[in-house]
Amino acid sequence: MTYINMSPQFMNAINRLIYEASKNPVEVGVLMRWNENDQFMWTLWSEAFHPGIVTQYSAHTATRQIGGHTEEILIRNWQGYVHEAGFTPRIVDIILTKLPCLTRSAPFTLGTHQLPSGCTFKLKEFIENIATAVLDWRIAYFRGPNPGPAMDIESGGAMAVLSGVPKLSIYHFMDHHSFVGGSTPDGLMIA
Ligand SMILES: [Zn+2]
Repeated sequence: MTYINMSPQFMNAINRLIYEASKNPVEVGVLMRWNENDQFMWTLWSEAFHPGIVTQYSAHTATRQIGGHTEEILIRNWQGYVHEAGFTPRIVDIILTKLPCLTRSAPFTLGTHQLPSGCTFKLKEFIENIATAVLDWRIAYFRGPNPGPAMDIESGGAMAVLSGVPKLSIYHFMDHHSFVGGSTPDGLMIA
């Protein structure tokens, strides 16, 4: 279990993520940082599907189909980020505005890899068998402000899966208010 280094720049970026998420609760946001270096941070959001439309998301050549849950977009964009940064990270911090879905997102193929249903299982596959050069993953997510029974069940399942991934440490923020109010130094709890 390793801990996320909450630098002032990273905290500012998390605050912006949460502010944007509060304006549009339908979309799920991700903030990602590589090697604890605040110069290598990306924010991305879930997207509606537009079949056949492709995006080029950096100055480089990587393209992908538009649409998907934000974790899927992160996985599809990965090689573009490697190209953009000029290196492959050893440490990846990910802040999520909610826990990854257990089953909702559809399977897809990435190169020679099959990624299964659900962003939870996609992340597990990506961490364990695709982005294997990364040695240390930390994911912190915000719990929903009003989690209902269905979300509780789904969250329990996702947590059980992600807790079993050896290279991954998973945390949650108690809620948006405790993060902003700082009832603990950064509101971050080991999940
Ligand atoms: Zn998902």
